[in-house]
Amino acid sequence: MHGSQRSIRTIRYAVQIAFLLITLSAGWEFHQFVLHFEEPGRPFVTRPPSVDAYLPIGALMAFKYFVMTGTVEPIHPSGLILFIAIIGVSLLLKKGFCGWICPVGTVSQYAWMAGEKIFGRNFRIEQYADIGLRSIKYVILSLFFWVIVVAMGTTMISMFFMSDYYLVADVKMLKFFTDMTSLTFWVLAGLVVLSVLYKNFWCRYLCPYGALLGIISRWSPLKIRRNEEKCIHCHACTKACPALIDVEKKDVVKSGECFGCMTCVSRCPSPGALDMTVKAGGNVRVLRPYLYPLLLVVLLYLVIGIGMLTGNWHSQIPYEQYQRLIPEVNKLSH
Ligand code: SF4
Ligand code: SF4
Repeated sequence: MHGSQRSIRTIRYAVQIAFLLITLSAGWEFHQFVLHFEEPGRPFVTRPPSVDAYLPIGALMAFKYFVMTGTVEPIHPSGLILFIAIIGVSLLLKKGFCGWICPVGTVSQYAWMAGEKIFGRNFRIEQYADIGLRSIKYVILSLFFWVIVVAMGTTMISMFFMSDYYLVADVKMLKFFTDMTSLTFWVLAGLVVLSVLYKNFWCRYLCPYGALLGIISRWSPLKIRRNEEKCIHCHACTKACPALIDVEKKDVVKSGECFGCMTCVSRCPSPGALDMTVKAGGNVRVLRPYLYPLLLVVLLYLVIGIGMLTGNWHSQIPYEQYQRLIPEVNKLSH
C-alpha cells in the first residue's frame, strides 16, 4: 500500500473531525444566542449563519424561489448558499459532502465503528430488504419535491418566508434537540442503536438529502475506477466499502450510494489498481488522493465566500423580531 493511499484515511478523519467541531461550535454559539433572548441579563452572542444548514426544506424552497424570481430570500440566506454549495460539490466531486463533511455522516461512521469493535462485525440486512429500505429515502425526497417544487407556487413560498414560524425556524430546530419530547428521544435512541448495528443506517436508508446528492453525483466527472490488469482480486476494497458496494466487481463505481470516502482506495494493496479518477474530454486521469479533499473544501468555501461578498450570508431579521418571537417560540407552528 502506498503512503499517500494510507494517509488519505488519516486526512479524511481529520477533515471530518474538523467539520464536526465547526458544527458543534456553531450549535453552541447559537444556543447562547437564543439564551440571550430567554434569560434576562445573558450577554448577546452573534448568531452563526451556518446554522441555516439545518433547514434543508427551507433551503429547497429558497432555491425554487431564487430560480423563479432571481431573489435570495433575506431571512435565512446562508441556508440557500450552503444548499447551492453542497449541490455544486456533489455535481463536480461526487457525494463527497456525505463522506467528508456532513457531521451526521461522521457521527454515523463512528457509531458503526463502535459496533464493529463491540460485536466484532457489523450486521447486514438481507439484500431484498436492503433494496426496499434504500427506497425510503427516495420516497421522502419525492414527497418534498412534490410539495415544494411542484405544488407550492412562489406566492405561497414568499408568504411562508414572511411567517413568524419561518423567522425562527432555526430556533425551532434547536428546541427539537434541547427540549426533546420523549417520542423524539426514543426515535433518536432507536436510530443510534440501528447505526451501531448497521453501517451508515441513517445515510443509507433514510436521509433524503443524501438521496438527492446521490442522484446529482451520478453526473460528476469523478469516479472510482478499477484497473483489471493491476487488480489482484484480494477483495479488500469490497470488504472495506462502507456503502456496501462490490467494488472488486466494478470497472467504474457509478452508484449513487458511493460517497467518495476513498476507503477502498486506501485499502487497495496493488498500486494503480484502484483510483479516484477524473474524466475530461474523453481522457481519464488519476486524481492524486489528497487533491480530492482539498477540492471539496475549496469549492465549499468558494461558494460561501461568494455568498458573503454578495451580502447573502447574514440574516436580515432585526433584533426586535427575535426579542418578540424567541420567548414565544414553543407556541408557533406552521
Ligand atoms: S466505492 Fe470506495 S469511495 Fe465509494 S463509498 Fe465505497 S469505499 Fe467509499
Ligand atoms: S483492493 Fe485493489 S487489488 Fe484488491 S480487489 Fe480491490 S481493486 Fe483489486
